[in-house]
Amino acid sequence: MSLIQSKLPTVGTTIFTVMSQLALEHGAVNLGQGFPDFPMSSDLTDLVAKAMRDNFNQYTHMAGLPLLRERIAAKVAMLYGTEIHPDTDITITPGGTYAIYTALTTVLQPGDEVIVFEPAYDSYIPNIEINGGIAVRIPLNYPDYSIPWDKVKESINPKTRMIMINSPHNPTGAVLRESDMLQLMELVRNTQILILSDEVYEHLIFDGIPHQSILRYPELLHRSFVCFSFGKTYHCTGWKLGYCISSPALMKEYRKVHQFNGFCCDTPKQVALAEYIQNKEAYLTLGSMLQQKRDYFRKLMASTRLKCIPSHGSYFECYSYAGISDENDKDFAVRLTKEFGIATIPVSAFYKDGKDDRVIRFCFAKQEETLDKAVEQLIRL
Ligand code: PMP
Ligand code: GLN
Repeated sequence: MSLIQSKLPTVGTTIFTVMSQLALEHGAVNLGQGFPDFPMSSDLTDLVAKAMRDNFNQYTHMAGLPLLRERIAAKVAMLYGTEIHPDTDITITPGGTYAIYTALTTVLQPGDEVIVFEPAYDSYIPNIEINGGIAVRIPLNYPDYSIPWDKVKESINPKTRMIMINSPHNPTGAVLRESDMLQLMELVRNTQILILSDEVYEHLIFDGIPHQSILRYPELLHRSFVCFSFGKTYHCTGWKLGYCISSPALMKEYRKVHQFNGFCCDTPKQVALAEYIQNKEAYLTLGSMLQQKRDYFRKLMASTRLKCIPSHGSYFECYSYAGISDENDKDFAVRLTKEFGIATIPVSAFYKDGKDDRVIRFCFAKQEETLDKAVEQLIRL
């Protein structure tokens, strides 16, 4: 008899770990797990070293370094025209994933329903279920991965506690438009429904499309948890530092959970970020930098038999291999890694029921040489 009863009996090891491990074993180019292979800013690493030398090495405020929160509030006002209060509306977290988990843990009661769009970032549904919630899964329209708002409307009932959105979207690179936000607003008006908005790719948005942050919509913000990741913005995914923005009443409850879990986050990095966040160029140029990489990758990929499903944001672009093989996407991704030396992510991993459209996800946040090397192999497909 097993010593414990699993809280997540159907969950295995996350696909990111599985594919990165496989890439390592086979010496493959890793275009699977989303992380840049180019260095982060040395100005920022110098600031961390300086903060450590200056002896900012003890616990900081439970909600995050006050100066960093003040500067996030200033950034939000500048970008989205919304005044948020650093004392009551922002909590610094050990990463975006933690920020999301904490929001779900803060609000979910057993039996509460959470509307999730699939493909969904792989932590969402386990995070809901471990908190006794029920994930109501709605597939995004294939192949543009837009939200079917009529289905959302049909799914809302008195048990609906939350709707989770993610733009720019992982794994597809789809982005929400103003019309989506207006429909969301219409649906939740006069209800108790909360929103969790995963905006970790806030600055990684292309083609001149404005990011539709919840922070632009005060009517939505008061019922939302909006989650961000410094890892994505500053090319340091290994830092695991992010933040959540909400309204005072929700944030008060959020901090009750956070204070007995992480309590506070890495102090020297917060000191460094409080300084570096003032450099607007660093995040305002991010979209064009990554767009160039997407375009470079897409152009190379045009000489393969894989069919592009265009991305408008994030680190990722998806490709269909339906015209090449009947294999399921996991087998196909494993074969690509073993036989062609390219690791990717099979998109069925982002569906609870393993829905398989014969699509794989590529991370293009890489140096051009890495992308060249990968596509040289993919041409053989
Ligand atoms: N949400 C999405 C959609 C992501 O892709 C990531 C990246 N891992 C996260 C949240 C979490 O970010 P972090 O690494 O800061 O936990
Ligand atoms: N967000 C990254 C991705 O989608 C991976 C994060 C992780 O490994 N947990 O690839």
